[in-house]
Amino acid sequence: MVATRNRGKLLEIEAVLAGVVEKVLCASDFPNLPETNEDGTTFSENALKKAREAMLFTGLPTIADDSGLVVRALDERPGVFSARFAGESADDVANNRKLLAEMVGTPPEQRQAAFVCVMAFVTPDGVEQIFSGSVSGRILDRERGTGGFGYDPLFLVDGFERTMAELTLAEKNCISHRGQALRLFRAYLDKIRL
Ligand code: IMP
Repeated sequence: MVATRNRGKLLEIEAVLAGVVEKVLCASDFPNLPETNEDGTTFSENALKKAREAMLFTGLPTIADDSGLVVRALDERPGVFSARFAGESADDVANNRKLLAEMVGTPPEQRQAAFVCVMAFVTPDGVEQIFSGSVSGRILDRERGTGGFGYDPLFLVDGFERTMAELTLAEKNCISHRGQALRLFRAYLDKIRL
């Protein structure tokens, strides 16, 4: 079971796990699944908390992703607050607008950032495993591209001339923080099935 209500994340997770996991259920298959209070100070804490709560509710092996954007010029913010950067019920548009506003006046050489993803896998029989990934880039001063979700249109991937939102789903999964964590998870599944 994938403990997420974020459609962007779900599409990426399903693409990497296709053919590996028989059936992927998500939060929308469990309408009464309680919302996790993400009050941890690290991605790992929040990912584990989400995964444990969803596993206890569903009784199923569960993965949960906690991820976000870390911007050097903003002292590593928004970090674990990435989804709520512009306020508790903020959407991607509001969060991107806030990021642009906070970066005004930051020179090109000081716009380094990274996407970070931590995946927690927990099972009813006590397994708890963490898989993580990160990708570095720079924050642009305007949006480019229509793919992906979240901060993707503002994130120019290091070594590429394109933003995350200018990549196809398959290209993004090849290089992204989430793709890296998922491939580690996939390798782990292959190993324990031997
Ligand atoms: P979470 O649901 O608390 O893990 O929040 C993750 C937030 O981080 C998302 O709502 C996005 O704002 C941001 N984020 C995480 N991964 C990505 C990504 O792959 N692209 C763009 N934004 C991302």
